[in-house]
Amino acid sequence: MPYGQLKDTAFEIYIHIPFCIKKCLYCDFLSAPASGEAVGRYVDALIKEIKAAGKQSGGRVSSVFVGGGTPTVLSEAHLTAIFDALHASFRLEEGAEITVEANPGTLTAGKARALKEAGVNRLSLGLQSVFLKDLRMLGRIHTFEDFLISLDHAQNAGFRNINADLMFALPGQTRKEWEQCLLRTAALPLTHISAYSLILEENTPLYRNHPPLPPEDDEYAMYEDTNDILSACGFTQYEISNYARNGFPCRHNLGYWKRVPYLGLGLGASSLWQETRYKNTSDMPSYLENAQAPLRLQQEKEYLTRRDAMSESMFLGLRLTQGVSKKAFQKDYGIAPEVIYAPIIKKYTETGLLNNQETHLSLTRKGIHVSNTIMAEFLL
Ligand code: SF4
Repeated sequence: MPYGQLKDTAFEIYIHIPFCIKKCLYCDFLSAPASGEAVGRYVDALIKEIKAAGKQSGGRVSSVFVGGGTPTVLSEAHLTAIFDALHASFRLEEGAEITVEANPGTLTAGKARALKEAGVNRLSLGLQSVFLKDLRMLGRIHTFEDFLISLDHAQNAGFRNINADLMFALPGQTRKEWEQCLLRTAALPLTHISAYSLILEENTPLYRNHPPLPPEDDEYAMYEDTNDILSACGFTQYEISNYARNGFPCRHNLGYWKRVPYLGLGLGASSLWQETRYKNTSDMPSYLENAQAPLRLQQEKEYLTRRDAMSESMFLGLRLTQGVSKKAFQKDYGIAPEVIYAPIIKKYTETGLLNNQETHLSLTRKGIHVSNTIMAEFLL
């Protein structure tokens, strides 16, 4: 989107549900178990925020992503009420992608049907591993069999666009096990697989246990195995950690990487709106009190200059295997990326880490493994 253009552009919506049945041992997301009463108060406040934000924002919505936490800990009635408010308050484009994150063990047949009836057309299921020892080590609440039951519910309700999240480079995990995990997952009726390596986040029980992780060489090999195995199974890598069947990349996430504006609703949700990044308060009492006045929820506001926006376009766009479109960059900022970034592009093309093609700039396979270092150099 041309820098500074605000009108007539479609935008995305993210809705945060900060509840889970039980905290996973590696998780530092904004989520926690909660009583039914606390969940009810939150849903009421969220609906107030949705209605108030709908009045203020105008425009068309190209995608919605309901994440968490575990949105499917909510009751059918709560899920339906949230989507009713959303449809009544915003103008969703025809065919807008609407995703809900669902964890095995929480997606009942009734909830799957309620989501389908509410217009949801994509589900993202947190599987992480097919092996019980990994799921126990991570503190997940479910087994692989629970995942298969959830997948059945999703299919029976009519969902055809389904993602599974996986994790690799887990403590004690071998390459052979990761290969098995990929093969068994890819054989299921899924359109999308996200595969992230485990990051031990400070202030999590798993970090404090400091379990030995696989050596760096193994992690490198597991990453390459992911692409090899999933490609052979009909999935194409389109982003550093994401693989999709033909026609099924996640449009919502593509929007993030291409800097489509997005509105974050709910506790702690982030937004990119009118070239400003901000997030809602993460303090629950403050959220509940101010939800009907979204401006009062906003914190950590950062206005992005044209240079900031250019840096983001490179930083985020290089995550995509296709890379950054030179034409789009020129259109958005009135200058070619080769002009702004000449020395960096030269340095990394000469070292075989960056592809400088006619239409796009993208990371090479070798470059993906040092992506953070390269992307940091594109910050102006
Ligand atoms: S289900 Fe997801 S959000 Fe909830 S605790 Fe586990 S990792 Fe965190």
